[in-house]
Amino acid sequence: MADKMYGWVGKILRVDLTTGKLTETPTSDYTKFIGARGIGAMIYWEEVPPTCKAFDPENALIFMTGPAAGTMAPSAGKFSISTKSAVPDTECYNLSVPGGHFAPELKFAGYDGIVVKGKSPRPVYLWINDGKAELRSAERLWGKTLTDMTEDLYSIHGPQARILGIGPAGENLLREAAVIVDHEHATGISGCGAVMGSKNLKAIAVLGTGAVNVAKPKDMMDLWWTYFRLVNRKPGEAEPQIMHKSMYDGLFHFPHMPHSPGHPQAGTISNADYFKNFGLDSPINLMADAVKAGTIKLKWGGCYGCAVNCALSWQSNNVDIPSGSGQCNDWMSWAAWEWKAYKKVCGIPAIQFDAYIDDMGLSKTNALGYHFYYFLEDLVNLGIITKENTGLPLDQPWTLDFIKTVLEKFAHREGPFAKDGVLGMAPEGQNRFLKYLAEKYPQAKSLYEAIIVHPGYYTHWNDLRGIPDPNNTKVKTGIGHIVGPGAGALSAAVEVRTWMVRVSTSNLSRPGLSAPNTAAKLQNDLYFGGLPDALTAKTWKDKVPIAIIQQNAATMVDCLTMCGWSSPPIYSSQYTPDKLGDPAIGEKIFTAATGVSITHDEMMAAMDANLNIERCIHVREGRRRADDIWNEFTFKTDAWNWTTRDEFGKAMDEFYTARGWDPKTGIPRRATLEKLGLKKVADELESKYKVSVPA
Ligand code: SF4
Repeated sequence: MADKMYGWVGKILRVDLTTGKLTETPTSDYTKFIGARGIGAMIYWEEVPPTCKAFDPENALIFMTGPAAGTMAPSAGKFSISTKSAVPDTECYNLSVPGGHFAPELKFAGYDGIVVKGKSPRPVYLWINDGKAELRSAERLWGKTLTDMTEDLYSIHGPQARILGIGPAGENLLREAAVIVDHEHATGISGCGAVMGSKNLKAIAVLGTGAVNVAKPKDMMDLWWTYFRLVNRKPGEAEPQIMHKSMYDGLFHFPHMPHSPGHPQAGTISNADYFKNFGLDSPINLMADAVKAGTIKLKWGGCYGCAVNCALSWQSNNVDIPSGSGQCNDWMSWAAWEWKAYKKVCGIPAIQFDAYIDDMGLSKTNALGYHFYYFLEDLVNLGIITKENTGLPLDQPWTLDFIKTVLEKFAHREGPFAKDGVLGMAPEGQNRFLKYLAEKYPQAKSLYEAIIVHPGYYTHWNDLRGIPDPNNTKVKTGIGHIVGPGAGALSAAVEVRTWMVRVSTSNLSRPGLSAPNTAAKLQNDLYFGGLPDALTAKTWKDKVPIAIIQQNAATMVDCLTMCGWSSPPIYSSQYTPDKLGDPAIGEKIFTAATGVSITHDEMMAAMDANLNIERCIHVREGRRRADDIWNEFTFKTDAWNWTTRDEFGKAMDEFYTARGWDPKTGIPRRATLEKLGLKKVADELESKYKVSVPA
C-alpha cells in the first residue's frame, strides 16, 4: 500500500479534449516544486512547446492547487492557472491565481490539479465528483452568461458544486477574457478565459465529499489563529484599520480613488473638498441610509479558510439597491461614475458593472475593464469615438442600459467592437488596441505611451505609478515585475507581489501606528539582512537584494496558494507591538500540512528553482534582457522621475548577476540551474531549444 499522503490527495487529472480521454498521474512526481505555481511551471516546461500558440490545441491549461488548500490553513483557498497567454504581442507563458472555493472542492473530489489539453470538437464541460471525471455536452450552455450557466449546472449537480467557467468573452476569444470562479472570482488579464474558449471548454464543475490529510492538525489550527491575529484584530480590539475599514468605506462612500487617473490621492484632499469636486455639498449615501434603516443587511464573506474575508455581500429588499456582493476593488474607481451620473453614491451602477463584467467573462483589471469608462471618456475627448460612429449612447454614460449594452457588445464582438468597427481592435486586448490607436490617431499616442508600460508586456494601468510611494515600493516591485511571468500579462501573481510589498513596507509608516522608524529598522535588521537603504526612497542602493527576497516570498505565497490580498503577515503586522510579522509562516504552514520539515533557506531555494524554471520558459519562448525594460513614460512619472533608464539598467545588471543570470542576455547560467537541481532544464534549453546557455 502506498504511503499515506499529507497535504495532497495524490492525483492530477489529465484531460485530452481532442480525444475525450481522461487519465491520471501521481502528484508526487511534482511535490518537490512545493505547490501550485511551481508545479504549474514544471508541467508547462515539460508539455507546452515554445512554438505552440495560445489558441493551439497543444497549449495546456494547468489548474494546480497547493498542499495547504482544503486544509485549515489560513487564507490558502487559491489555485493557479498556468498557460500560454494570447495577451502579449509575443504570446508567452503566464499564470493567474484566483480564489474562491474551487481549489479545496477539487481536492475533496480527489484531485490536486487538472491539466487540460487538446480541443473538443463540440462545446463541453468537465464534471468531477468524488474521484470520477467525465466530459459532458455544453451545447446548451454555449453563449450563456456566467449567471445562467451556473444556475443550469446547479440545477443538475446541486448548489454545493463549485464551478469555474467562461462567458461570451472567452467563447469569442477576446484575448483578455477571464475565467470566472464561483461566480465572483476572476483570473485578471492573463487571458485564461480565451484559452479555455479556444478549447471549447465552457466550464469545470466539482463536488467532493473527501478530505485532505493534514500531518499536524493541531499546529495547523494554531497557525490559523496566529495568522488571523497578525492580519486582523484580536477579539474585543478596535475595528481593524485597513481591510474591513476599506471595504466599509468602499461600499458607503469611498472618499478617494487611488487607482483612478485624475482623481485626488488619499491624504491629499479632505473628504469635504473631495465631494465638492463633484458638485456635492456632502456625501449622499443611499446604501448607508438603507443599512441604518434596516432595509439592507451586510455579511462578510470570502474564500475558503480565509482569515480576513475581504468580500462583502448584502441582501436587500429595496428595489433601488439590488442584493449583491463584491470586494474592495470592485468599487474603488467606479463610484466616480455614479457621482457623475446620479450626483450621489447609490451603489447601483458599481454593483451592476461588477455583475455584468463577470457575467460576460470579461477582465476588470485593465483599461478595458477596471477603467473602462475612463478609457471611453478619453477616447471621446480625443475625438476618436462618438455617439454616431459607435452607435453607443455616449452622452448618457453610466446608466444601467449603457453599461449592459457596451459590455454585451464588447464580449460578443458586435457593433463598434466588430472587426470593422471603430473599437474593433479592443477585443484583441489593451496592448494591440492602443498600438493600433496610436498608429491611426496621432492624438492617441500619449495615451498609448502612458499605458503601455514596456514593450510587449504590460501590467496594471497604474500599478507602478498611481499610488503614492513613500518607501519607494514601486522601484523594488518594478524589478520583480519586469522579469516575472505576470509581466507577460497581468496576473494575480503580480497583485500578490505588489500588495505584499506595499504591506510589508508602507504599513510601517501608516498614521496611527507607533514607532514606524523602529519597526522599519527592526524589519531591516531581522528580515532583510541589515540592508540600511532597503526602505529609503530615491536610491537603487539595497533594492536588488530586497527585490529578490520579495520575489521569492511572493512565489512561495503563490505556491502555497496563500492569498496576497489578505496581506500575508510575512514581514509586518499591524497587530503586534513591534509591527513585525512572521517570516517563517509559509514554512510552518507547509510543514503542518505535509509533515515535511523545511527550513526557511530550503523554502527560498525551492523558490529560486521555481523562478528559474519560469525564466527558462520565457527564454525558450524568446524573451531576453532587451525585453526587460520599462518605457520612457515610466521614467517621467512621480514614482520614477528621480532616476533614468541607464540607472535602472545598472540595477538590473546587479539583479541578473545576483540571480545567477547572464546580465547581457538575461539567460540563467548553467551553474545556477545545476546548483538548483535543474540540470535537465539547462540541457534541454541547449539541446532541444538551441539556446546558448552561458556557463
Ligand atoms: S483576502 Fe479576500 S481574496 Fe484573499 S483569500 Fe480572503 S476572501 Fe479571498
